[in-house]
Formats: sequence, structure tokens, C-alpha cells
Amino acid sequence: MPGNDSHHRSATFESERLQSLLDAVQSRGYEILGPRVRDNTIVLDRLSSITELPTGAGAEQNNARFRMTSRPDQAFFSFTVGAQSWKNYLHEPTLRLWSARRDQNGFQIDANQSLPRKQAFVGVRPCELNAILALDRVLLHGVSADSAYRSRRENTLIVAVDCGVAGGTCFCTSMGTGPRASSGYDLALTEIIEGDRHYFAARAESELGAEILDGIPHSVPTEAERAAAENVVARAAGQMGRSVNTTSIRDLLVRNPSHPRWDQVATRCMTCGNCTMVCPTCFCTTITDVTDLTGEHAEHRRLWDSCFTLDYSYIHGGAVRSSAKSRFRQWLTHKFGTWFDQFGQSGCVGCGRCITWCPAGIDVTEELAALREGNPPGTSPPIGKETPRGIA
Ligand code: SF4
Ligand code: SF4
Repeated sequence: MPGNDSHHRSATFESERLQSLLDAVQSRGYEILGPRVRDNTIVLDRLSSITELPTGAGAEQNNARFRMTSRPDQAFFSFTVGAQSWKNYLHEPTLRLWSARRDQNGFQIDANQSLPRKQAFVGVRPCELNAILALDRVLLHGVSADSAYRSRRENTLIVAVDCGVAGGTCFCTSMGTGPRASSGYDLALTEIIEGDRHYFAARAESELGAEILDGIPHSVPTEAERAAAENVVARAAGQMGRSVNTTSIRDLLVRNPSHPRWDQVATRCMTCGNCTMVCPTCFCTTITDVTDLTGEHAEHRRLWDSCFTLDYSYIHGGAVRSSAKSRFRQWLTHKFGTWFDQFGQSGCVGCGRCITWCPAGIDVTEELAALREGNPPGTSPPIGKETPRGIA
């Protein structure tokens, strides 16, 4: 993981050298994961060659809409994010905690045999990099530190790619998370296409990133190349179609549990939980035990859960959040508000996934703007019962 300023360096290399970079990563024992096309969409999967990247692919995104498009150039990374996020590989959707098998002496517990593999994430967007750093706060450094997360995270190399186009639902500029990767990566790339020339401006932040960069043919960036890289991210920032006013946003949310907008959004929200599944920072889980039909084997598994399920808020005797209104309010208030109380930062990085993949087309930026109507920051009186961890 990055952390030492002495390894910072920058370079440029031509686009065909991207394969040398992947080879250099693979030769160090890392499995490469990155974007590729499958089933007419862009997914994260194993990669071994740059020919597997979604070359020339773009993506059109809007409320409840994702469509792959094609571009006239051969850009490798001219789309933003698909439904999956890197949390799938750090905080897995299903994790077997332990298993047991029956023998003549009763049940024997099998140790979890899976060893952490070295994984390299290629094409991590700046918002996603911030999502990983947010998960680190919770699952690496927080009171809920998780050994499975730690073993994955400590074996992960990150190659970030700055954004040159904004997705239709992005608002990273509002959340301060993009469109340029600022820290937390091993290597960061800016993809630049100028006429016939297709090249990358690269920055290394970790010792390993610098070593990989040093090992591939590259040159020292010229002033013109640095300026071109800045223009790429400025273009993406200028395309940002959505925004959120984050001024006193935590107070706005915790002071308005009775705002009429919650009733309105509840008529649309189906409590499907899609927004929490695609969100790169949602980390809640549940535990389940499974036995096979023979009764010989049993497993204790951890699965992703969602605050949109009825069971999630089940305390003794019933669910605390029985209505769609209370569940949506809980999610939005936690994500944009009470994360600050728990983790000292917002739970949202502005990736836009919850807008794209909500089947009802609910847009958090629109909901937050509506909640602000008639509520100038910091002036609305407290309504309802406010606790340090949210709204009771
Ligand atoms: S906000 Fe949308 S995605 Fe989230 S639970 Fe409601 S309907 Fe599903
Ligand atoms: S709340 Fe929505 S926009 Fe924010 S990080 Fe989660 S999925 Fe992305």
C-alpha cells in the first residue's frame, strides 16, 4: 500500500506499453482484475491482456439506465463505472467463515483454507479509490476491523485511472473525490488521445508502483504532456451533470426526519436494496448457517445485507424500520449524514451508481435538493429524536 513520499514520480508512456505494465504487475504474482465487456455491459473481471479491455466503449448513464455505446477512438478507459465496484473483491458478497463435517466422533470444524491471493485492480476510478479508502476506515482501522478485509486489502495493488469523461450520473466534484485520483493508489494513469497519438501520463505513489513504472519504457513528461493530462480531468469535471450542495448536509438530514419529501420518495422506493448493493461503500452483512441435504456438512457464511430489508432492523419482537419511508430515510441519512459521526467523513463518493441502478429512477441528488427546500443550512429546528448515531 502507498504511503511514502519518496516514491512519488511521474512518467509518460505510449498506449501500447500498457501491456508491459500489465505484464510487470503479473510477473510479481498479482492476478489482474479490471473492466471488460460481457453480456453487452462493462463488468469487472480477470484480465491478462489489454485486448480484453473495453477498447472504444463508452457508457450512457441516467436514472435507471445504463447503455454501452461505441466511440470513434480506441480509448481503453472512456467510461466511468459499471454496476460492480471493487468492494466485491475486498469485502466479498459471500464469505464462508467456517464449515463443519460430521464423522463418527460428531462434528469437526474445517479451518478456512483460502489463502489471500495477490490482486491488482486496474482502472480504479478516483471516486472508487475514495470508496476503498472509506472502506479502509471502517474495515481496516475502525472498531469493526475485519480480518478477511485486511488480508485482501494488504495484498491489493491499485492502478487508478483519472476520468476523462463524466458518467451521466456522476457527482464526484461535489463530494471532493474526483475526477483526478489524488492519493491512495500505487499507480495512477491519465489516458490522453491527441490526433494519432494515444499515450498515458503516469504517477507512482508507492515503492512498488515506482518500481513497476521504472521497469517499462517511458519518458519524463513534458510541460505540454502535463498540461494535456490536466485538460483531460478538467474536461470530465466540466461534464459533471449532477451536483449536491454539501453545506451542513449532516445537520440538514438529522434535523429533518419528518420532512414531507420522505413520504413522497416512499411511494416510489420498492425497498429492493439495489442502491446498497451497488454502492461501493455500503458494507453491512448478515450471517447464515447452511446445511446440505445429507446432514453431513454445514457452513457458517457471511453475506452482504441491506438496510432496505425488513429483517435488517429486526430487534427483539419485530423490525424497527417497517416502512419504506423509514428505510429510505435511514439509508440516505446515514450515507450523507451520520457517517460523519461514525467515521468522520461522508459515506458517499459521488459515483452515481445508486441513481443508475435504482429501478425506480430515484436520484439522491434530487432528493437531497428537495430536502433542502425551505431548510437553509443550519437554520431548521430539530424535529424528532436525534441520537449520536442517527434518527431513532
Ligand atoms: S431507492 Fe431505488 S434501488 Fe434503493 S431500495 Fe428504493 S427502489 Fe431500490
Ligand atoms: S450513495 Fe450512490 S452515489 Fe454515493 S457512493 Fe453510494 S452508490 Fe455512489
